[in-house]
Amino acid sequence: MKFETKTIHAGQKPDPSTGAIMPPIFQTSTYVQEEPGKHKGYEYSRTANPTRTMLQDNLAALENGKYALAFSSGCGAMTTVMHLFKNGDHIVCCDDVYGGTYRLFTKVLVNNGIKCTFTDLTKTENLKKNICSNTKAVWIESPTNPLLKLIDIEAIASICKSKNIICIVDNTFMSPYFQNPLNLGADIVLHSTTKYLNGHSDVVGGATITNNFDIHEKLRFLENAMGTVPGPFDAWLILRGIKTLALRMKAHEANALKIATYLSDHPGIEKVIYPGLKSHPQHLLAKKQCSGFGGMVSIVVKGGLPNAKKLLKKTHLFSLAESLGGVESLIEHPASMTHAAIEKGTREKLGIVDGLVRLSVGIEHIDDLISDLKQALE
Ligand SMILES: *Cc1c(COP(=O)(O)O)cnc(C)c1O
Repeated sequence: MKFETKTIHAGQKPDPSTGAIMPPIFQTSTYVQEEPGKHKGYEYSRTANPTRTMLQDNLAALENGKYALAFSSGCGAMTTVMHLFKNGDHIVCCDDVYGGTYRLFTKVLVNNGIKCTFTDLTKTENLKKNICSNTKAVWIESPTNPLLKLIDIEAIASICKSKNIICIVDNTFMSPYFQNPLNLGADIVLHSTTKYLNGHSDVVGGATITNNFDIHEKLRFLENAMGTVPGPFDAWLILRGIKTLALRMKAHEANALKIATYLSDHPGIEKVIYPGLKSHPQHLLAKKQCSGFGGMVSIVVKGGLPNAKKLLKKTHLFSLAESLGGVESLIEHPASMTHAAIEKGTREKLGIVDGLVRLSVGIEHIDDLISDLKQALE
């Protein structure tokens, strides 16, 4: 089945009891048993829920994986994955990572005795340098957030395999439409389904997908034990959002490329970062490991903070908000918003300067989006 067909049909069948073409929202906490232990596969909705099962089967199909789990949020998925590890374990993580991931690793998991080294994994040799005897996992995002650096997933995954380390890829930015890390050798793919997968900015959710039965069973146990589950209505909303994922991703990308090109020639902009531009240092890697370049564009505004603030204030269609991946365009300031949890010194060393602005390009008409940026930069 091709991707577009999977988004609409995988994991779902018309409801056998009524013929309803849309999957029912099984808004129930428990299920009646015929005799103790004799049931239709569902006992209690923290453990399993039919609407959630349909979402999970759909997500597994989209990532070309065998097993998927849906979670209450991307952070819920991350927290659950990180409970695969224990006191004394070590993780290597890319340095330019989602702010919430950095916060979870440095403010929460340290208290459980899990150490994390952050390093620039665009250079694969940095992984080799940082692997210790107690290293259990590598955590990457590609493209990274907000600097849109690419990491060679295949190269990282192959080092992980040779050292018996779990390779975890947060694939939120590309969505399964543009990138399938399991095909490149990753062990676990993670998503904040809040973003492109749902796509309508009306639900918070997360997911993991893997081909490894043992990892899946451990995660399933942890999810049930820790209760990081989504409600049935949230699962249903994400399932509904996914039906248009292919159409949306194409539109996000077409708009993002036009905006990146427009801003590259704008005198008020110092730098445009977009993997689809030939000027991106890893444009060739992007072409190799992804089937597209996504909808996120980062820019550095000339004149630093005052001019960045002016831009953030003056856009009308680009709303000032955190998050990304919805149909509507958003603009945000990583240094003071999504990445404020990272100390200023570390932030600036990474390149998250005060003039950096991140755009989540929506699927409005391109002419309106460009006029909005044009007037805001005047
Ligand atoms: C938003 C996001 C998360 C966290 O997901 P939530 O659904 O907000 O908990 C993790 N990783 C990336 C790349 C994200 O953009």
